[in-house]
Amino acid sequence: MELQKLGEKTYVLLSPVNVGIYLLDEENVCLIDSGSSKDYGKEISKVLEENNWHLKCIINTHSHADHIGGNAYLQNKYNCQIYAEKTESYFINSPILEPALMYGAKPIKELCTSFLMAKPSVCEDIKNFTEEGLEIINLEGHSFGLIGVATSDNVLFVGDAYTSSKILEKYKIQYTYDVANFLKTLEFLKETNYAYYVPSHGEVESDIGDTLRKNAEAITSIEEEIYEIILDKHNYNEILKELFNHYHIKETVEQYHIVGTTIKSMIAKLMEEDKISLSVKDANLWLERK
Ligand SMILES: [Zn+2]
Repeated sequence: MELQKLGEKTYVLLSPVNVGIYLLDEENVCLIDSGSSKDYGKEISKVLEENNWHLKCIINTHSHADHIGGNAYLQNKYNCQIYAEKTESYFINSPILEPALMYGAKPIKELCTSFLMAKPSVCEDIKNFTEEGLEIINLEGHSFGLIGVATSDNVLFVGDAYTSSKILEKYKIQYTYDVANFLKTLEFLKETNYAYYVPSHGEVESDIGDTLRKNAEAITSIEEEIYEIILDKHNYNEILKELFNHYHIKETVEQYHIVGTTIKSMIAKLMEEDKISLSVKDANLWLERK
């Protein structure tokens, strides 16, 4: 982890999951996300101690396990408040909801690993957050209620509202809960003008125009591809099979569910746009172009 100063009061701990640090005053800090594990919690704690900072609160951009993994350790050690958007806060208080959402029932153990399910921590609605110097920005789409955090140094922490170009090249199909709002958020970000943008995965940038364009292209090209596949392969499993083959996705139980969520979100978008219809026949989900 490397501590980088981005403004008078704003720092980022650069790591596979970037963690923001904002100085509320000379002693107290607010974290933006807490990394993917207890080890992150320990590393963050070490940095706080080295700088004589006290952890007063954590804002979680959203409830995915790689953003809240350090919560339980840090809350236990510092007794800090934790905040997230209301729906996300339910998932942080009861992390079983994440694999349950993905599985659609009591989840199988393959989905209850630390990759998808963090330890619970006590989290409240971001509406109760009253500290000065931080502004909460709605960036929903990737998850239910993803929020960005803008600091008084004109730095915006965006969570997973977009992914860096490098990561996008590696993982073509990104997890997306709501494709339509994901695209709206990219459009919204295009019109903003922060000094620095900090995604949770990838590098800090000042000009994100190109990265936003690549994120939008990646998701719309998959959506177009699904619409194409529907022309002659009409059932859900066939669509999934085509995409797994095309993008060389590892055939694991986890990936089946993660990629499946994004595909289902795209199907919902196509339905909302009245482009396709759905039916069930021979115990299969069939998709038809309108
Ligand atoms: Zn996420």
